[in-house]
Amino acid sequence: MFMANSQGFSCPDCGQVDMVQKVSALVEGGTVAGIYSSTAGSHISGITLSTKASQLAPPSKPTYKGPWGFFSVVFVGLGIFWGGIFLIAMLAVLVTDRYGDAIHRLVAIATYGIFAAFCLGITFLIFRWKRNTALARQSRYKDANSQWVRSMDKWNQLYYCARNDVVFLPNKAGACVPASQMLRLL
Ligand SMILES: [Zn+2]
Repeated sequence: MFMANSQGFSCPDCGQVDMVQKVSALVEGGTVAGIYSSTAGSHISGITLSTKASQLAPPSKPTYKGPWGFFSVVFVGLGIFWGGIFLIAMLAVLVTDRYGDAIHRLVAIATYGIFAAFCLGITFLIFRWKRNTALARQSRYKDANSQWVRSMDKWNQLYYCARNDVVFLPNKAGACVPASQMLRLL
């Protein structure tokens, strides 16, 4: 018996074991050549074999992408910078007597204050938006990742029969589908 099917699982389609191979072993290569050159060398060429390997590739691991990019960091940096400048300018008017007359003082304080509030307000809104985006993405990533772990667990139990071009989960009734529909079993 081939190492790749050491437990001797038979194909649910043809009932035989001779062309059955563990999918993970087939995809990782190595044992593939031995099997096909000894039993089906003319059946599947190297090229179709690598096509088959990519068709039977494991589900790709989900990745987490944070919401902060170059532009949002620069934008927030500018917002904090200019917000700070206007805030300091406003405080400077408050604590000095740079504007002797009260109306001018009031107008300067209000103007600087509005600019500061505008810059810092936008910065705050961006922070909140990015934080909410990050939380939503983290939760989606967590779900996708646990789904992926379950899929990988099943994928690691999959077998392939080259005669019928099917994949199956051993000892599971009905768990046999064409190789092109492998994902239905995961
Ligand atoms: Zn078969």
